[in-house]
Amino acid sequence: MKTLLVAINSQYVHSNLAVLYLKAACSEVPGEVKVLEFSINESLKSVYSAIIREKPDVVAFSCYIWNIEYVIKLSEDIKKANQNIIIIAGGPEVSFDNGGLLCSKDFVDYIIAGEGEHKLPQLLKSIQKGIKPIVDEINKLKSFSVVDGLETLKSPYQFIEKNSLKNKIAYVESSRGCPFRCSYCMSSITDGVRFFPLEKVFDAIKRLTKSGTRIIKFVDRTFNSKEERALEIWNHIRQYENADIVFHFEIDPALLTEKMLDCLEKMPPGLVQLEAGIQSVHQKTLSAVNRPRPVEKAIKNIEKIVSFKNIHTHVDLIAGLPYESYDLFRQSFNRVYNLSAHHFQLGFLKLLRGSELRNSADFHGIKYRSYPPYEIISNKYITAEELLILKDIAECLELFYNSGRFHSTLKAIINSCIKGDSNTGLPDSFTLFEKLALDMREKGYLERPVKAFNLYEIFFMFIKDRVRDIITLPIETIKECLKFDYLRSMKNLTLPAFLIKKESSKKTRQNMLKKYRDELEQVLPRFKKHSLESIWHQIYIDEFSLPAETGYPQKAVIAFDFGDISPVTGLAGAYYL
Ligand code: SF4
Repeated sequence: MKTLLVAINSQYVHSNLAVLYLKAACSEVPGEVKVLEFSINESLKSVYSAIIREKPDVVAFSCYIWNIEYVIKLSEDIKKANQNIIIIAGGPEVSFDNGGLLCSKDFVDYIIAGEGEHKLPQLLKSIQKGIKPIVDEINKLKSFSVVDGLETLKSPYQFIEKNSLKNKIAYVESSRGCPFRCSYCMSSITDGVRFFPLEKVFDAIKRLTKSGTRIIKFVDRTFNSKEERALEIWNHIRQYENADIVFHFEIDPALLTEKMLDCLEKMPPGLVQLEAGIQSVHQKTLSAVNRPRPVEKAIKNIEKIVSFKNIHTHVDLIAGLPYESYDLFRQSFNRVYNLSAHHFQLGFLKLLRGSELRNSADFHGIKYRSYPPYEIISNKYITAEELLILKDIAECLELFYNSGRFHSTLKAIINSCIKGDSNTGLPDSFTLFEKLALDMREKGYLERPVKAFNLYEIFFMFIKDRVRDIITLPIETIKECLKFDYLRSMKNLTLPAFLIKKESSKKTRQNMLKKYRDELEQVLPRFKKHSLESIWHQIYIDEFSLPAETGYPQKAVIAFDFGDISPVTGLAGAYYL
């Protein structure tokens, strides 16, 4: 019997740990059990033909919100091609509501709800023997359950070969479940957290560091729920400081202890990335989704981590939560923006199958799409139109903030805004992004891809035409900030025409390099034995007048070193001479 375990990932760079766990669990199933991974960006036809060419007896799919519609079409085609092929569906998207979208699809033979490491091999053994499960057994397969004793699970990492994850993200799991019960989240469904033995985690890390991946993501829902374990793992990964690998963790910032902060502060730059969900700064909203949290403590801890400057920090807000109107969301946005994290993700509430909030959606008047990913359309507190504006703001955050391309310009503009947010007393970054989103929408830039090179002029025109009246900075100063940002993020000597100054001619800057050569060698000793000509091609040197709002010295000669990229920000080094 040949069984295919099929993962349809949401992007090419993703890899799927679930199918590897299942393959390991099926080691005693007679016949061949093979894993096939695809992405939803591959054509249905090519995935279909790859599966059929394998001549399988059983095809088992791992189903999520991002692939369920794809899996439905694929399963139907496979069954039509050969009705003897048995189709099994598992994964979060079929674990509730009697199989969710698959419950009435007769081309799916079996649905496995919850964790499948015990259920799948049992089912395959029955199929292999030609025994059809009885109704009770089928119902058991369809009832959500988790496995007991994670330590007994066979390692999925045994299948990771050297360099098999080149250009891909690798995933590792040190625990399952979450200590919290947020009502919009699937992880709140199981009781408590179950941990894998540390030696298994360390072995997994060792294998993954040889897989060719540059990023290892811990899929643990709240990695720092247990201080001692988090510290042991963080201390353990320090040995990979020079392995050119980043370790990513999802944490609860409010649970960070002094010991954890101390450990994080000492991490080598760029070794660790943290993702910290804030979701809202309003207690009433957080309590309504069963997520009461000490917001102030969480914010203070993120501020501390950002101040360490060695950890790429990612923060999240969710739009569409109960009791959070557009104006209250503005306050959440301004507070979270003010943290100056490296990545600020604005997500939208999804009413997932099996989640408590989906069952009580009517209470908050939540209207959501009836198809995956079940995203909110409106609720009692925020209108559909307001959520669409937030969608545009989320896109602008990606282009202008998360890209890191406008780091200093945004800082200067927001800090020089005449009016702050009257509720939080903070600079009103929300208003700036609201205006930017409107401008980008009106000019059609949100409907087509825009080259990074062109974004600088687009942003400059926006500032010139739309926000001159609310900021105090002169336009020439803004150009200086944009030029500074361009050089650091694009790492390119060819400036857009609008950023070229007459007084920065090639000759002037070459003379500048001659004059400041000693200072340059002091800050960048690697240039000591280089000729001026060679240095000239590796750096950009010029005089800048930056505003105090950027936090940088105001008048200075700066050398940008394109061979020195920060592992934390991804920006080129800027050296004051
Ligand atoms: S949202 Fe995060 S903290 Fe809340 S239950 Fe889910 S995984 Fe846990």
